Amino acid sequence: MAIEYAEHDIIIAGAGIAGMAAALALAAHNIPSTLYEKSSVLQEVGAGLQLAPNATRLLDKLGLLAALTPLAAEPDFINLNHADSGKILLHLPIKAMAEQYWHAPYLTIHRADLQKVLKENIDKNPLIHYYGSHSVNQVRGNAQTGFQVDIVTLQEEQEKSQAEAEPQQNSVETLSARCVICCDGVWSRLRAACCGEKARFSSYIAWRSTLERQNLPADFAGGGVLDSVSAYMSKDSHFIIYPLRQGAVYNFVIITKGKNIGDKWSQQGDKEQLLQFFNGKNPLLRAVIDQAPSWLCWPLFQMPFPRFSNANGVIFLGDAAHAVTPFSAQGAAQAIEDACALAQFIATGLRQRESADNAAELSRFSALREQRLKAVAGRGDFNRFVYHLSGPAAFIRNQYMRLRPQRRFLSDLDWLYGYDAVAPFSES
Ligand SMILES: Cc1cc2nc3c(=O)[nH]c(=O)nc-3n(C[C@H](O)[C@H](O)[C@H](O)COP(=O)(O)OP(=O)(O)OC[C@H]3O[C@@H](n4cnc5c(N)ncnc54)[C@H](O)[C@@H]3O)c2cc1C
Repeated sequence: MAIEYAEHDIIIAGAGIAGMAAALALAAHNIPSTLYEKSSVLQEVGAGLQLAPNATRLLDKLGLLAALTPLAAEPDFINLNHADSGKILLHLPIKAMAEQYWHAPYLTIHRADLQKVLKENIDKNPLIHYYGSHSVNQVRGNAQTGFQVDIVTLQEEQEKSQAEAEPQQNSVETLSARCVICCDGVWSRLRAACCGEKARFSSYIAWRSTLERQNLPADFAGGGVLDSVSAYMSKDSHFIIYPLRQGAVYNFVIITKGKNIGDKWSQQGDKEQLLQFFNGKNPLLRAVIDQAPSWLCWPLFQMPFPRFSNANGVIFLGDAAHAVTPFSAQGAAQAIEDACALAQFIATGLRQRESADNAAELSRFSALREQRLKAVAGRGDFNRFVYHLSGPAAFIRNQYMRLRPQRRFLSDLDWLYGYDAVAPFSES
């Protein structure tokens, strides 16, 4: 007889992209879950995210793509440019190729817009129980005998100080659960508590800003960037530009070497320092830096290695499992892959094995996802190496990009964008 999950059997910690996608993917299999998020309201913090076809195909299956598309942009090209001259070295027709080869769009979207659509769908789904201002603080037990999960109800001041301080322990409630899914992000306390592992500073900083279309610098349209994801490559840094909200807003991300400025998403960056980094580079980039009213920055951390479960059967998804640097633009996409793959794994386990929640069963799920994430991280390392070359090596790169047929570059991405994260866990 098949085992069914009841309302609080599956606890999800953290309502970022991974946690919300996990709850929705489980609900699509008719499996209920309870989602705890430490913030009282989901913060409108963040800027652009790229959603490649490996993610948009899954979002479509969850019934979310139609709501996301009007809020996103679908760039025609991916351009790799020389940061000094601004010249385009590689011009890939991503929109046409994504539909033709990977049967799903390549979207760019504001993090707040993706979050809003996920949350709206959570709110109307009776299988998902959502609690804001609740922090999952500790997980004890195991998948064989059951978990005990400490949930702390936070006051507003405690929420604000979460990055720095432990919340007070005076309002702890301990719940029982059969499955605990930790989606508490790159600075995951749960991964540290359950496995003793923490993300490490990568020695890179991400700077971000946005500009509304009417505030763009005068020569912006001439730069070939309007309908593109454009990356400007330079020694030890690169500059990314892409549209959001159907081109009403443009997103700018700059990656430079830098110091660890603390575990926070939004710290005010120094525009003068940024202008110095891009001294002598293409005037368009300097104009964007200058025109943007403010630059926020955050330090880029990465997990030492991907981990999807521990010996007790606690599950980790998203950045808590595998935070990677953004050089392959796959952070959110991999969180969505994780969520849909896990939901399929649990649903198939329920039907085939009558139980999907013990650590031994989980090892197959973990092994397959770890293999995928190692490949994605490897692609990110390769991109960083290529983007940040200088001197004669950069010259050879530039020639190679100019001369190699476009189709070869796109077929290099088949394994990444054509991947079906759910298929390995579907019933045979
Ligand atoms: C505020 C913010 C801004 C971001 N801005 C950008 C951006 O501009 N560009 C970009 O590429 N990426 C950004 N990211 C990262 C990007 O969203 C993630 O890399 C990716 O989507 C993976 O998502 P995730 O769900 O694993 O982690 P996250 O998106 O980090 O979500 C983790 C969630 O868990 C919650 N949480 C943490 N600890 C607990 C706990 N103990 N109990 C309950 N809840 C908990 C957090 O409040 C958060 O909502 C941002 C993330 C955050 C949180």
